[in-house]
Amino acid sequence: MAMNSLVLADGAPAPAPMIDPFARAITYLRVSVTDRCDFRCVYCMAEDMTFLPKADVLSLEELDRLCSAFIAKGVRKLRLTGGEPLVRRGIMTLVSSLARHLQTSALDELTLTTNGSQLRKYAGELAGAGVKRINVSIDTLDTDKFRTITRWGDLHKVLDGVEAARAAGLAVKINVVALKGVNEDEIDQLVRWAHGLGMELTLIEVMPLGDVGAGRLDQYLPLSIVRARLAERFTLEEIDYRTGGPARYVRVAETGGRLGFITPLTHNFCESCNRVRITCTGTLFMCLGQEDAADLRAPLRASEGNELLFAAIDEAIGRKPKGHDFVIDRRHRQPAVSRHMSVTGG
Ligand code: SAM
Repeated sequence: MAMNSLVLADGAPAPAPMIDPFARAITYLRVSVTDRCDFRCVYCMAEDMTFLPKADVLSLEELDRLCSAFIAKGVRKLRLTGGEPLVRRGIMTLVSSLARHLQTSALDELTLTTNGSQLRKYAGELAGAGVKRINVSIDTLDTDKFRTITRWGDLHKVLDGVEAARAAGLAVKINVVALKGVNEDEIDQLVRWAHGLGMELTLIEVMPLGDVGAGRLDQYLPLSIVRARLAERFTLEEIDYRTGGPARYVRVAETGGRLGFITPLTHNFCESCNRVRITCTGTLFMCLGQEDAADLRAPLRASEGNELLFAAIDEAIGRKPKGHDFVIDRRHRQPAVSRHMSVTGG
């Protein structure tokens, strides 16, 4: 990790690493490169979303500079997300440019979370740039259900994209949001499918982000229930595999594959949080589940040097909260956080 006493490649002294008030080192940055998406998943966006004016969105050069500043401050893992990262025009220019930090070993991992719709087009280039693993979000293997969940998505195109990614040598992890009455009857099938192709699968609880025009209580399926049901069909072996993130893992004895659970609602996972998020407008969110944020676009644009930017980052990290306040129950009908997941990218 970059320390104060180190010197950056351009000769400038390395800025202080990011340590929050709870002594958590911030080493993971998730960057939403666009708020736009070619899907309209029912739990993520409203159908008639209004997107940001292009002028408010950071250019690819600005995103690169912002990410590089975080890398100088100790970020070792960078995930591009969105909206849909692969619909951002010129995205491969950004990926290829950020990959220089892999070559200098300043960064351990450059990865992305995608809906897979553009993977056929980009998988080879991503692998060529040094991306090793990607997450692909697929909540169902039923074509009609897929269309209902994503409103606009085509499952065949996504599965073809997954195939292209695997053929390019990318390790693929499948993310599945557990949705009450929608995909709860096919989770075991999804597990068998993913593991059968050598892919990990992680289940995610619906989080109360943004008004999506549907009651969260109607969507929310506690993973404790899903896990109990899976345990009737599979042998779930506890393993102490950890990625530093919120997922807790088991090995499914019958498939040999790894299965993750992200349970923001049934279990709080904040004590080991090592991450922050920036949006495509340069807003820094210190916690996915809180409204507090810091504007980094103004200090980024205010000067060519990074001093103002580093100071703004330090000030914000000093406010990183201990944890989130997600609650879904009958007394909490409003979203815990007003912005949609597509703003910060999950
Ligand atoms: N478009 C990309 C994708 O589909 O993966 C990246 C952005 S998407 C916002 C990232 C992840 O967040 C997806 O796995 C999606 O299913 C998940 N997600 C979106 N809204 C959510 C919510 N309210 N609760 C839980 N997960 C959510």
